[in-house]
Amino acid sequence: MTQIPTLEQLHALGAAQQPTYDDPAALAAAVDRLRTLPPLVFAGECDELKAKIAAASRGEAFLLQGGDCAETFVDATADNVRNKLRVLLQMAVVLTYAASVPVVKVGRLAGQYAKPRSSDSETRTLPDGSQLTLPAYRGDAVNGFDFTPDSRRPDPQRLLDVYHASASTLNLVRAFTTGGYADLRQVHTWNSEFVRNSPVGQHYEAMAAEIDRALTFMKAIGANPDEFHRVDFYSSHEALLLEYEHAMTRIDSRTDTPYNVSGHMVWIGERTRQLDGAHVEYFSHINNPIGCKLGPTATADEALALAAKLNPANEAGRLTFITRFGAGKIRDGLPPLVEKVTAEGVNVAWVCDAMHGNTFEASNGYKTRRFEDVLDEVQGFFDVHRALGTVPAGILVENTGDDVTEIIGGGEELDEHGLAHRYESVVDPRLNRVQSLEMAFLVAEMLRR
Ligand code: PEP
Ligand code: MN
Repeated sequence: MTQIPTLEQLHALGAAQQPTYDDPAALAAAVDRLRTLPPLVFAGECDELKAKIAAASRGEAFLLQGGDCAETFVDATADNVRNKLRVLLQMAVVLTYAASVPVVKVGRLAGQYAKPRSSDSETRTLPDGSQLTLPAYRGDAVNGFDFTPDSRRPDPQRLLDVYHASASTLNLVRAFTTGGYADLRQVHTWNSEFVRNSPVGQHYEAMAAEIDRALTFMKAIGANPDEFHRVDFYSSHEALLLEYEHAMTRIDSRTDTPYNVSGHMVWIGERTRQLDGAHVEYFSHINNPIGCKLGPTATADEALALAAKLNPANEAGRLTFITRFGAGKIRDGLPPLVEKVTAEGVNVAWVCDAMHGNTFEASNGYKTRRFEDVLDEVQGFFDVHRALGTVPAGILVENTGDDVTEIIGGGEELDEHGLAHRYESVVDPRLNRVQSLEMAFLVAEMLRR
């Protein structure tokens, strides 16, 4: 692994989706400060996750990556973090039982604050009929969601706010996952409550009862392994803002190689995966497990070129391709990629993001997705891999532990009109708590077949 390029060298390659800051001195000061702050994660933990993703790529584990599309500073509260963690752990128990393999739990949290946007600006009609154009909201890492000139101005101080919000989130996650809160029996009790109390949950009574019997059996024979009481949970985010990610890149003293120490896993978004662009270059120099989104325009040759650049040693667990074709395209679009990558002997973990190819605007203006499209894409993903004899290594979801109304359908049959009831996402719509659990049970059935 060669020396990491300077920020200037990276910018010279052309970096997509970067904010335009108007105060270079303030930006430089924020970056300098970030460079002095302690790591949020350890390189050794990143290696551990890499080994687990390698297992998932062989079918010996299953990756569950989930959380907000975009975290916000105001929502970095104890209740929110706990609810997010809780729903992911609940999903993981169901999937673990169904797949009979460990579930690798990775949150889209503690750093998921920067967003790529399809347009640099946003125009709105004001109450007096005039039009106002302002910079697009690029996530709390860059600017504010409020539609005022002051709020939408990119502010470098926010990069430091990202660090501190991520640190407190991760601190809480570490406390919850090692301090007894994540005890397997407790998580199963939450699932049993969901099954008992929710009309949707009752479909899953049989599986919940099976898990119950398995746990009762373990208890009866006196098995009480450490794994019952604590879970390994990892953080991830899209490493989008070069200033932040570069400042959080450090040389690991064990191996003398660079790691991004702001999250265990980082990924390259669909809009920044240009082979000769700054993001791919940056990612080629860090040693973390990394993801790269592949949408419907990706070709098999592009996938191979990305793998060659991002994982030249062909190390297992290093590279995850997160496909996001859309329910209508995955069955035709995915096979050529998987076939060619597999034929070339290239090591990747294939993960299904069934969210981003299925987004549309409802007639009342809300950005939404249909639960059935999400499920159909996951089903297509499994069908493709089963037909090719390759491994579906995991899923990525945008979800929350709260009862929001952002995605249409599911057992609660939320419709377009219901979206207004509790739509809180600042960017993409998320599965709510019930939809998340329902999805886990449905994916569990796919995994079992
Ligand atoms: C996301 O994961 O929130 C995202 C922006 O995805 P993509 O890069 O695939 O559009
Ligand atoms: Mn999103």
